[in-house]
Amino acid sequence: MTTPTGVGVGWEARADLVVVGGGVAGLTAARAAARRGLTVLTLSKGGPTDTSTQYAQGGIAVVAPTGDSVDSHVADTLAAGGGLCDEDAVRSIVSAGPHAVAALTDLGAVFDRGRDGDVARTREGGHSTRRIIHAGGDATGMEVQRALNAASLPVLFGAAAARILTDARGVTGVLVLDERGLGVVHTPAVLLATGGLGQLYACSTNPAGATADGIALALHAGAAVADVEFVQFHPTVLYARGGEGRRPLISEAVRGEGARLIDSHGASITAGVHPLGDLAPRDVVSRAIAERLAVLGEEHVFLDARHLDGFAERFPTITASCLAVGLDPADDLIPVAPAAHYSCGGVVTDVHGRTAVPGLYAAGEVARTGLHGANRLASNSLLEGLVLGERAGHAAAEERAGLRVEATDATLPARRRADR
Ligand SMILES: Cc1cc2nc3c(=O)[nH]c(=O)nc-3n(C[C@H](O)[C@H](O)[C@H](O)COP(=O)(O)OP(=O)(O)OC[C@H]3O[C@@H](n4cnc5c(N)ncnc54)[C@H](O)[C@@H]3O)c2cc1C
Repeated sequence: MTTPTGVGVGWEARADLVVVGGGVAGLTAARAAARRGLTVLTLSKGGPTDTSTQYAQGGIAVVAPTGDSVDSHVADTLAAGGGLCDEDAVRSIVSAGPHAVAALTDLGAVFDRGRDGDVARTREGGHSTRRIIHAGGDATGMEVQRALNAASLPVLFGAAAARILTDARGVTGVLVLDERGLGVVHTPAVLLATGGLGQLYACSTNPAGATADGIALALHAGAAVADVEFVQFHPTVLYARGGEGRRPLISEAVRGEGARLIDSHGASITAGVHPLGDLAPRDVVSRAIAERLAVLGEEHVFLDARHLDGFAERFPTITASCLAVGLDPADDLIPVAPAAHYSCGGVVTDVHGRTAVPGLYAAGEVARTGLHGANRLASNSLLEGLVLGERAGHAAAEERAGLRVEATDATLPARRRADR
């Protein structure tokens, strides 16, 4: 069999919507579209936890019910974005945060609570107040992924989207490579939720699959891409001499709880650099570290968390990463350096995940909605994945319903239906 592009394929299937990606944005979108009656096929080139979502530590930024406001969260986001955010998009997404988190909680996600029984909130770089909710101490992403995996429709794992097919009316299908070889899924709608691009760099916090696939797929389909020059480097990634590939993150929440960034002489890195000090936006802190390292001719600075009570309980994931290389944060300074972390730009969409190509949607890290501008505010990305995933799934259901195709059972091999 041959596709309209002349590529030979070995199998074919049909769906109303193909969601590419099994992280927070993709699974949220797939649920939203399926609830509205679409037959959805979700693809992931990795397994159930091969996502950036799984590795998220600090939490989800969401306006707190007291002592906080949408205006304050918007102001912090705009300040971090260096004047390049789209204020209307920021307000739209931030305002939807509490509802999106409530929906996730309804699915079974459990967030940490303080001694008073209320949901606990921490602070991260660029935030003017404690509004970051978290789970498992520093394992927020693991809990988000767990809850979504448990509540989601089956996902076709080990299946990579290789090309979006279009004609003059928009999307007509997607070429997919899986264990059966190259196949085509006929569909009027494709939703890209392929995550980021950190693995294009030598050192990154991102998993192996973060290779910018969604950007390449969108460009080939004729969609616009913007702001891809704004790659956020996280200031505090565990340093190892010669370490490459995925490196463990030391969450900003560690600084939020009082840890200090110092150089090899014990001097503060951010004193006099920014009024928020060590909790300045990430680009500011990463630049300050890079400048200090250039002056000293060294490869890393240190995070001093030795004075924090209960570090291991509050940050079990980070403690495990440190112990694995022979460091105990209670006694040792933690060597850290900046590494590629987050793609602020991506496929241009509106705040409903629509691109300019009919039938092509994008949500999550792969999308450029205008929320992040030149620099994402900490913990705004899980928020964006939840909000845009829901909206894009909804938009696909509203707009492409008239073009629905007859889905085939062949789309999901029986063995994979049980996979989660
Ligand atoms: C270490 C770390 C810590 C973080 N901490 C936080 C935090 O505390 N708070 C916060 O808000 N954000 C955090 N982030 C960022 C946040 O986790 C991500 O931006 C977000 O989870 C991205 O979700 P997503 O659904 O867009 O993509 P992902 O969760 O990365 O999922 C991408 C999916 O697409 C699939 N895929 C990719 N290409 C293809 C293809 N060609 N075909 C088929 N499937 C494909 C992948 O297999 C995967 O299933 C962190 C990120 C990292 C790496």
